[in-house]
Amino acid sequence: MDDRQFRTAMGKFATGVTVIATDVEGDVHGMTANAFMSVSLSPKLVVISIGENARILEKIKQSNTFSVNILAADQQELSMIFAGQIKEPREVTFDRLDGKPVLAGAVAQIACEVSAEHLEGDHTLFIGRVTDIHLEDAEPLIFYSGRYRALSEETPVTI
Ligand code: FAD
Ligand code: NAD
Repeated sequence: MDDRQFRTAMGKFATGVTVIATDVEGDVHGMTANAFMSVSLSPKLVVISIGENARILEKIKQSNTFSVNILAADQQELSMIFAGQIKEPREVTFDRLDGKPVLAGAVAQIACEVSAEHLEGDHTLFIGRVTDIHLEDAEPLIFYSGRYRALSEETPVTI
């Protein structure tokens, strides 16, 4: 199986889009990620998966904290900034939630402390213990088959 086939198959799993952010001694770094999942309700745990070449990897190991910002439909530009798809440096202002850097306007801001990390292949999984949440009433940004999308109107299901 080649890499392209694997990526094409994984791209068939429609996801939201998050920006993971962390702060090392006042220096905030963000990275776009769609490998995010809820893990446990009691205790409240989530997981993110960070590639071995991502600069944010060492920063999360240093800070032992991160935030997950689930982007709104009108925040595609932020996704592109934090994925390096927009090359020119942009000034992005971060708010704070439980001391962690978060993005205003995100559908959900989730503050986490690292409770475990697991190296698996070329990614590191960070389990985050959720310490605080802030929600906004907005539609989410969607990522599917390598393209950004928006939710379309719900089609009623007839049973
Ligand atoms: P850098 O390349 O250093 O930073 C990324 C960009 O963010 C740079 O342009 C940088 O200037 C900018 N930036 C960072 N901090 C700030 C700041 N404070 N203010 C302004 N700009 C800033 N990779 C994964 O490992 N896991 C995933 O789950 C994942 N999911 C993805 C989902 C999507 C939809 C996309 C498009 C990409 C995904 N990636 C994922 C790839 C990842 O986003 C890129 O490889 C990213 O560039 C690697 O980040 P880095 O930490 O090396 O950051
Ligand atoms: P793509 O078509 O390669 O990605 C489709 C799907 O494949 C992604 O949603 C993800 O589930 C999976 N995938 C892609 N690259 C991966 C990797 N290195 N490790 C594990 N899973 C991976 O590309 P795209 O959707 O146009 O993404 C743009 C860029 O962002 C690419 O460089 C891609 O590698 C990167 N990306 C990385 C991850 C990740 O590391 N987990 C996830 C999404 C996108």
